[in-house]
Amino acid sequence: MLIVCARCRTTNRVPDSRLAEAPTCGQCKQELLPAAPVALDDASFDKVVAKTELPIVVDFWAAWCGPCRMMAPAYEQAAAKVAPGVHLAKVDTEAEPEIASRFAIRSIPTLVAFRNGREIARQSGALPLPQLMQWITTHAQN
Ligand SMILES: [Zn+2]
Repeated sequence: MLIVCARCRTTNRVPDSRLAEAPTCGQCKQELLPAAPVALDDASFDKVVAKTELPIVVDFWAAWCGPCRMMAPAYEQAAAKVAPGVHLAKVDTEAEPEIASRFAIRSIPTLVAFRNGREIARQSGALPLPQLMQWITTHAQN
């Protein structure tokens, strides 16, 4: 399957059977599916979301948002639990206001699940780990 590197935006082809073996990017040698949320920006967002053939969940957040900071540790834990089947990412809405406005993000944190570049689910408001895991596995897991 195709996985776009969030760091250098290179498209990598990874055999399904090797997904769990910590595949690295052919270009920059970084881990393609790290067990922590990857930050997406204006340069990487469209390509990673549209071309990566794994379900992707994006956390729209900001540093000034208390509930976002509260959910961050749970989101990190969730990323470790769902890797490598689901790719967890985050977008800093203050640094990337265009992405947030394109997706009409009205409140943060907002989670958006994508599959093949299309939004399939959305959730606004912070969730504790069990509910977060349930939401991710319901909407994004294969
Ligand atoms: Zn790379």
